[in-house]
Amino acid sequence: MSEKPKSEEEWKKILTKERFWILREKGTERAFTGKYWNHFEDGQYKCAGCGTPLFKSEEKFDSSCGWPSFSNPIKDSVEEERDTSHGMIRTEVLCTACGGHLGHVFNDGPKEKGGLRYCINSASLEFKPQD
Ligand code: FE
Repeated sequence: MSEKPKSEEEWKKILTKERFWILREKGTERAFTGKYWNHFEDGQYKCAGCGTPLFKSEEKFDSSCGWPSFSNPIKDSVEEERDTSHGMIRTEVLCTACGGHLGHVFNDGPKEKGGLRYCINSASLEFKPQD
């Protein structure tokens, strides 16, 4: 990205309260409350912070966990980091371009698609339908 990184104050001005809490403060929306957990249209899911395409609808699957779940991200669009908060060892998923918190990745996804489950907050995403 050619744009310079935004300060947390700048993010606060452009994001909704919920998106700021999740993307910038690593919050988690409650299960089954987000916009996309049960959404299966064709298109792309972009970062709600910076607009970078992160996941394609063909990678989305119904995990019944209450959050949008994907087998694989678009190449190089996300970064992963070890997260030991809340007494668990998890792998955090972040937007490579803006550093926004997206969710976590677990290894209980569909085997035929690689076995991963990217469990992502709806609020971290903005869906763009296929043209
Ligand atoms: Fe981003």
